[in-house]
Amino acid sequence: MNYDKNNIFAKILRKEIPCKKIYENEHVLAFHDINPQKKIHALVIPKGEFVDFDDFANKATEVEIVGFFKGVTHVSRLLGLEKKGYRVLSNIGQNGGQEVPHLHFHLFGGEKVGKMVER
Ligand code: 5GP
Repeated sequence: MNYDKNNIFAKILRKEIPCKKIYENEHVLAFHDINPQKKIHALVIPKGEFVDFDDFANKATEVEIVGFFKGVTHVSRLLGLEKKGYRVLSNIGQNGGQEVPHLHFHLFGGEKVGKMVER
């Protein structure tokens, strides 16, 4: 799948639409999900143009990969999620239920997150 430069997270990265920012550095932007599914529901996205985790893992440089993962854990700590635990989730493609075609990790926490997947 080709990267769509007009996806909503690309627009957030370009600051064409606002977000409730949690953290930003040269590798990542983190913000609160517009429709939170748990008390804390954050999204962490890489700054590079990657459609999903598969695309990222295959095309990103080692610096981008390390930067992204360090960013995810940094955000989890900013939100205090590591104290009681949390869930990291990334949907990939149609079967994964991905809606926005720019890689994002969901961080869910602040309460029990519940079952891992629906049957
Ligand atoms: P996906 O289904 O692609 O894994 O998750 C996309 C997530 O992006 C959803 O949880 C949805 O609520 C969130 N989202 C969609 N549009 C916006 C937006 O404009 N701003 C923010 N902050 N979150 C969004």
